[in-house]
Amino acid sequence: MNILVINCGSSSLKFQLIDSGQEQVIAKGLCERIGIEGSRLVYQKTGCEKQTMEAPMKEHKSAVKMVLDALTAPGTGVIKALSRIDAVGHRIVHGGERFSSSVRIDGAVMKAIEECCELAPLHNPANLIGIQACMELMPGTPMVAVFDTAFHQTMPEEAYLYGIPYRYYEKYKIRRYGFHGTSHAYVAARAAQLLGEAPGKLKLIVCHLGNGASVSAVKYGRSVDTSMGMTPLEGLIMGTRSGDVDPALIEFIAHKEGRTLEEILQILNRESGVLGLSGGFSSDFRDLEDAFHEGREEGRRAMKAFAYRTAKYIGAYTAAMNGVDGICFTAGLGENSSLIRDMICSYLGYLGVCLDQEQNQKRGEDLIISAPDAGTKVMVIPTNEELAIARETCALLE
Ligand code: ADP
Repeated sequence: MNILVINCGSSSLKFQLIDSGQEQVIAKGLCERIGIEGSRLVYQKTGCEKQTMEAPMKEHKSAVKMVLDALTAPGTGVIKALSRIDAVGHRIVHGGERFSSSVRIDGAVMKAIEECCELAPLHNPANLIGIQACMELMPGTPMVAVFDTAFHQTMPEEAYLYGIPYRYYEKYKIRRYGFHGTSHAYVAARAAQLLGEAPGKLKLIVCHLGNGASVSAVKYGRSVDTSMGMTPLEGLIMGTRSGDVDPALIEFIAHKEGRTLEEILQILNRESGVLGLSGGFSSDFRDLEDAFHEGREEGRRAMKAFAYRTAKYIGAYTAAMNGVDGICFTAGLGENSSLIRDMICSYLGYLGVCLDQEQNQKRGEDLIISAPDAGTKVMVIPTNEELAIARETCALLE
C-alpha cells in the first residue's frame, strides 16, 4: 500500500509517501511558511536531488494541494494519480484520555480531537486543519489518526497524577499525558529486536533527545512513566524549553520584571532550555558542542545541565521499574552526539553502564554501544516516526 504520512504544524507541513510493503520512502518533503510571505515546498523524490518550489500557500489546503500536485505531476511525480494513495496517516499531538491507540478518522473522531485542542492549543488545531484539507482534496481516501500521547496511556495513576487538588483532574483532566509516544514505542520495539528478547521481558528507558526531548520508562512493552507532562514543557531541559522548574518562579519573575503570565510561559517555552542556559548563544547542540570543545563556558554549562537532568530521569525511571535492562538513545541529538551520550552515561556507573568508545562513535544504524560485559545495555536506535505512522495506518486498514 502507498501511505501518505502527514505531520501538520501551525505554519508547516511535513510529508512522506511510503510504500508500506517494502517499507520504503517514495518521496518526502516539507512545506514551510504556510500563510506567510515566502512560502515554499522542499520536495525530494527518493534517489533524486531535493527541489525547492516557491509558490504562495495562503492556507494548509493550498499546501496539501501543492504536495499532491508534486506527487502526481510529470517530472516530479512518483504516482500516476491520487487514487494510488491508499490511505493517509496523520500525526496528531494530543489525544487526551480518549485515545490509547490509533483510529480511523470519522466525524466522531474529529470532534474528539477538537475537544483536545485546549490541551494542545498550538498543535491540535493545525493537525485538524491538515485532516480537513486532505479530506477535501482526497474524498473517499481512508484517513488514520496516530497520537503522540497514545502510547503513554498505559501509565499508572501514581505516575500521571500531579500533587494538586484531585478535583482539577476530575474537572479539567489536568494530568501527565506525555508526548513523542510514537517514537518511544518504535524505539522500544527495535531495542527488543536488537537485544533478541521479547518486549514483554524487558525494562527499557528510552531517551528521545532532539529539540524537544523526553525520557520514558517502558516496562514489559508498556509505557509506565514519561518526562513530558500535560504539555511538552515539562521534564528534560530542551532546546528552548525549560523542562522542570519550581512553579513559584513564574510569579517571582512576573513580579520582578513586570511581565504577564503569557509572557513568562513564552520565556519558558522559547527562551529557556540550553538556549537560555547558554546566555542566548544557541539552541542547536552542534553549536554548543563546538563551544564545549573550544572550552567556552556557555557551551559547557548548558551541556552539563542537560546531561545531568537526563541522567537524573534515568535514575528515577530505574527506580520506577525496579531495574533496567537497556537504555536507548534516539532523535537528532541522541542519535548523533557521542559526546552527550558519554556525558549522560558517566553518571550511570552504579547501573553497570560502561560504553564501548569505538561503538559510541558510529552512527546511522541500530547499535549496542555498551561494552560486552556491561551490566546494563546502552543502545543507539534511529527513530522513524513516519514509518511507525505508516505501519499503524496500514494495520488499521487491514
Ligand atoms: P525535533 O524533531 O525536536 O526538531 P530533532 O530530533 O531533529 O529535533 O533533533 C534536533 C537536534 O539534534 C538539534 O538540537 C541538533 O543540534 C541536534 N543534532 C543533530 N545532528 C547533530 C550532531 N551531528 N551532533 C550534535 N547534535 C546534533
